[in-house]
Amino acid sequence: MSAVEYTFFRILRLLRRLPFNPMSIGNQKVIFLEYFKNFDKVEAVKGIFGEKTTEVLSHLTVELSWIFGYMYVDGSDGHLVISKNYLNNGDKTDIYLDLIHELCHVKQYMEGKELFDPRYEYVERPTEIEGYQYCVQEARRIGLSEERIGCYLKTEWMSEDDLKKLEKSVNLLVS
Ligand SMILES: [Zn+2]
Repeated sequence: MSAVEYTFFRILRLLRRLPFNPMSIGNQKVIFLEYFKNFDKVEAVKGIFGEKTTEVLSHLTVELSWIFGYMYVDGSDGHLVISKNYLNNGDKTDIYLDLIHELCHVKQYMEGKELFDPRYEYVERPTEIEGYQYCVQEARRIGLSEERIGCYLKTEWMSEDDLKKLEKSVNLLVS
């Protein structure tokens, strides 16, 4: 994703705050558990929602969108927005880890936490650190090397300094 695309993505987020969102035309809405079958059986997901896992995932709306980028939780009602392009063409392991990360945000939203707290930079926001720590823990459990996890954390729009901060937050062993 280029800087231009990222800016576009930020604008789309702002548009979402309007009562009617013209950018959602043509987007498809599905139920999380019907789309990502058996995710309620995944230990890492059960670790997030506990006994409520199946209930939460069978009520969670996923908006499959033509937006550029990856996925995020909509701060207005806590539903998940995923780029169709990313879902079709992205690395499957990255998508899996992103889903774990975003489900952490779904839980945080349910707890009333502010997901886009502007007092913090992205990599220093407590909700982001929690989401990253949790998905990195899962990445290690499924056998990803520290180097591969480092690749996962690195996104086009993150500066080297920010990446270093994030690596530190998740105790990544960087050589
Ligand atoms: Zn996040």
